[in-house]
Amino acid sequence: MDREVDIGKVVRQHLEMEQFFSGFTVKGQSPQPQAQEPQQNEVDPMVIAEKAKDLEKIAEQVGQCRLCELGSVRIHAVPGEGSPNARIMFIGEAPGADEDAQGRPFVGRAGQLLDKIIAASGLKRNEVYICNILKCRPPENREPRADEIINCFPYLQRQIEVINPEIIVALGAPAARTLLNTNKSIGQLRGHFEQYYAGIGHPPIKLMPTYHPAYLLRNYSQENRRAVWEDMKKVLTELNLPVP
Ligand code: URA
Repeated sequence: MDREVDIGKVVRQHLEMEQFFSGFTVKGQSPQPQAQEPQQNEVDPMVIAEKAKDLEKIAEQVGQCRLCELGSVRIHAVPGEGSPNARIMFIGEAPGADEDAQGRPFVGRAGQLLDKIIAASGLKRNEVYICNILKCRPPENREPRADEIINCFPYLQRQIEVINPEIIVALGAPAARTLLNTNKSIGQLRGHFEQYYAGIGHPPIKLMPTYHPAYLLRNYSQENRRAVWEDMKKVLTELNLPVP
């Protein structure tokens, strides 16, 4: 649901988030973590090109999808974006108004916070993959309905299969619950690795549930921000990446 924006609060959150996720208020962090060299799997460029082509095909199918009414009310479909060879996939809930307008995931306020989380982790946005459970915006940003998730999920399953990330970060309850097929709360799920089962013959993929950036903006506390940072540190450690 679009809410009235308190500009003072937005500016304060922005400045504090900037500080928090750039290391000034996290104990033991160096001031401004430098982006690492591309954290990609060592894969044949032909394989990466093939993956990119497969992702384009999925994006085309998403663009033509009319399996539910969202396909007729959207401005743009938002299939996802990032590296076909990403080691980490961030999966959110559904596009909002900014994403619908641009056809790109996580480009509004929550997206700007996600960018900060990615940068604070020493990564670049274009070396991870970012997408959502739903590829079209639900009207008024309402929660995705079960039938919409059922229709849309195969696109995401295929994206995961193509990218084959080492870790999925599920942002918020709808993403975590859908991917893990559970009704547990995000508070119960976050903070430890779960397994995403990609299907018979595919080894499970480690999945870290964490709070959605929009939740962080709404429930703005040091404790919540620290929780996300703790979750990201576990992800980086699991990937043998330096923890800034
Ligand atoms: N929230 C989401 O879950 N996804 C987006 O792309 C933007 C906001």
